[in-house]
Amino acid sequence: MIKKLGKAFNRLLIKNARVLDVEKGELSPPQKIIIEKGIIRETGTEAEPDCDSIDLDGLTLSPGLIDCHVHILSPYLTEQKGIPGLWTLKQMERNCRATLAAGVVCVCDMLSPIKILNRVRRKIESGNVDGPDIIASGGIFSCAGGYPEAISPVAAPIGAVTGQPKYEPRTPAQAKRLVNYLYNLGAGVIKVGYTRLSRQLVDGRTLPAISDENLRAVCNAAHELGLKVRVHHNWSEDMNHLITFDIDTLEHGVYDRTLLDEEIQDVKESGVSIVPTLTINDSQARFEEKLGFLKSNRAKEYFEPEALRHLTWVCSTWTDFSGESYGGSFGYTRANRYCYDAELNNTRNLFEAGVKLYAGTDTGAVVAWPGELADELIRLNSIGMSPLQAVRAATAEAAELVGRPDLGIVKNGKTASFTVIEGNPLDDLSAYKKVRYVCKSGKWYKPLHDQLPDFWSGYDVHFKLR
Ligand SMILES: [Zn+2]
Repeated sequence: MIKKLGKAFNRLLIKNARVLDVEKGELSPPQKIIIEKGIIRETGTEAEPDCDSIDLDGLTLSPGLIDCHVHILSPYLTEQKGIPGLWTLKQMERNCRATLAAGVVCVCDMLSPIKILNRVRRKIESGNVDGPDIIASGGIFSCAGGYPEAISPVAAPIGAVTGQPKYEPRTPAQAKRLVNYLYNLGAGVIKVGYTRLSRQLVDGRTLPAISDENLRAVCNAAHELGLKVRVHHNWSEDMNHLITFDIDTLEHGVYDRTLLDEEIQDVKESGVSIVPTLTINDSQARFEEKLGFLKSNRAKEYFEPEALRHLTWVCSTWTDFSGESYGGSFGYTRANRYCYDAELNNTRNLFEAGVKLYAGTDTGAVVAWPGELADELIRLNSIGMSPLQAVRAATAEAAELVGRPDLGIVKNGKTASFTVIEGNPLDDLSAYKKVRYVCKSGKWYKPLHDQLPDFWSGYDVHFKLR
């Protein structure tokens, strides 16, 4: 999928790079840049230092992309029976490589047991696995039986080795302790799962949710440590409740109905931002249209054979509402196809009202995969963001959200993490699918393909609003 180009250069002269300035919204004429020890030292330099060099021949040097919402360790296993094999570890590494090959230099992982994730981070840092920088939530805060209801805390001896996927504090004091515990293990964000709407939408069932006092304690403890609190939601009633708390973002979108103007205004006034993850919503709405990709040779690079078999089976069930899995989460995701209009409309209305949106795909949530962030930018553009706004949502602004202000802008003093692409994304966002080189903290990589896979072969990349 991707190969390393030599070692990390101590000092490197980049020639003929057209730099994408995401602050001004301009693409520069070809220029020279010096990077040193992984840091951008001199953009637009006239110097000819005696050091290694790379000639980009007029390609676009964009800040490396940041995906604000992924599950990078996912083996795409939802509802697969039996015990997952060792191949799941290999799948995690494939996800990391495919993410980097797509020009994504940093991701925010929203639900992986922290100790497993730390092991993968160490492999990436030591150069044993090619992958992006990973900011981690290290699990999700909820309550017993609360969203994600299919996930429960694991037995304590296992949790001591892996970290927990789910934290169910019973008191505010315990909530605070758990936030501190995760922070000390390297969590960079706190994720809360909050949806009281049954996933099947139709059966009238509701789920319990974390109590108000525990949620408040989570927010306070996280903010004391400088961590943002990001909350999964789907239901209008939950949204109206959640924006009264000191949370930072709402993830995904409201899909049970179109929000009223007053509600949109309330979100705006709350200061809460949104990571709409249109990619996962779109993929859930019409997963059967991804079958072409699953049958392609590129899919064999993306997935371990076991994962590919499972995904192909899942895909085949997508339009069949009679199967046994309808009562499980697949039933929910398929039901989602009827909700996507509302979700898209709400996202567009929130954006038009001035609510800040960030780019995230939910890669790893079974039906969305590494490399789809470029399509997410196209989707954000389709609901009204300009190409520059969409790019900023995955670069400069995303960097602020995930707590990596050294990323997201090509500027002296920032980290040398780029995606080198063909074409001007301000004219056509699909330029981000033509990744020629990726540079992460001064280390250069060459993707093995000139073009990212077409995940929607024969179909439109984005859902059409009706
Ligand atoms: Zn997610």
